[in-house]
Amino acid sequence: MINNSNVFLDKKIENSISYHAEKLTVVVPCYNEQDVLQQAAATLEKQLDAMIEAGLVAAESCILFVDDGSRDDTWRLITELAGSSPMVQGLKLSRNVGHQNALLAGLAHVKDGPCISIDADLQDDVLTMSCMVEHYRQGCQVVYGIRQDRATDTLFKRNSAYLFYKVMALLGVETIENHADFRLLGSAARKAVLSFTEENLYLRGIVPLVGFKTASVYYARKPRAAGESKYPLLKMLALAARGITSFSVVPLRMIAVLGVAVFLFGILHSIWSVIDKLFFQPAVGWASLSSLICIIGGLQMLALGVVGEYIGCIYTEVKRRPRYFVEQTL
Ligand code: UDP
Ligand code: MG
Repeated sequence: MINNSNVFLDKKIENSISYHAEKLTVVVPCYNEQDVLQQAAATLEKQLDAMIEAGLVAAESCILFVDDGSRDDTWRLITELAGSSPMVQGLKLSRNVGHQNALLAGLAHVKDGPCISIDADLQDDVLTMSCMVEHYRQGCQVVYGIRQDRATDTLFKRNSAYLFYKVMALLGVETIENHADFRLLGSAARKAVLSFTEENLYLRGIVPLVGFKTASVYYARKPRAAGESKYPLLKMLALAARGITSFSVVPLRMIAVLGVAVFLFGILHSIWSVIDKLFFQPAVGWASLSSLICIIGGLQMLALGVVGEYIGCIYTEVKRRPRYFVEQTL
């Protein structure tokens, strides 16, 4: 069911008397989002206002824009927005640390109450935020926003995402299909997420690990309201690799299985070579030998690459470097 209406708001007007509305913080990581920022602020403010009016969230609810080291006018716009609206807050990171870390910085900045993380480009349906809060009211600490309709994504993005979820499922990693980082976290779940100190941050993998009562809301993903995607192919692949290496050691085990398979193949091949030499015209010559060397050499490199990927992760983990620095807050 695609739920993109404010139906819960009407119900809230009746129920609000008995419910203590909590402060909601909407965390929005932004990297070079000058083209969409004003529209995003206006849309989110309108939605928050409606939720406040319906008694779903407290009047001091706010939008926290996290500037992830943008090189355009993003921070200047956030400053202007914060100056003109008491609902807008800003957090400027000292440099670009990536979407996941920027989101983490935002979560760490929230003091109390639930928070909803959402991208700046308005691809996620802001109306579903009221449904998220409704689930929170009913005791859910985690509410996932699930893209039920991805028709506006490119064919490549849809298929690569589908393949990624299949690979993750094969590797035994719990992932929420078609969920990105549009989610509500209650205070307890937020603190639990913040207690994960890993450097190779993949929040979509961490959130299911914290447990708590969980719900989902469904929506149709829209095209970007303005500006360009900040996730080019290489960044997307890096995030996928991080998701796999942070949550599964199955690729390492697969190397051992591959090793055994190649070893058995080698033994069979040797036996066949002897039989071939004794009873038939030997077919093993330079050409077949060199292709075998290439195949086995390639497999070894691949195995080394997979091991290297894990070693790279250990290397960054053990250094325990800070994940971000806050330069300014508004
Ligand atoms: N983003 C960020 N830091 C980065 C890259 C992206 O904070 O280094 C933010 C970006 O501004 C947006 C969100 O992460 O709010 C998701 O990025 P985008 O919408 O471009 O990704 P896509 O939807 O194309 O996968
Ligand atoms: Mg987007």
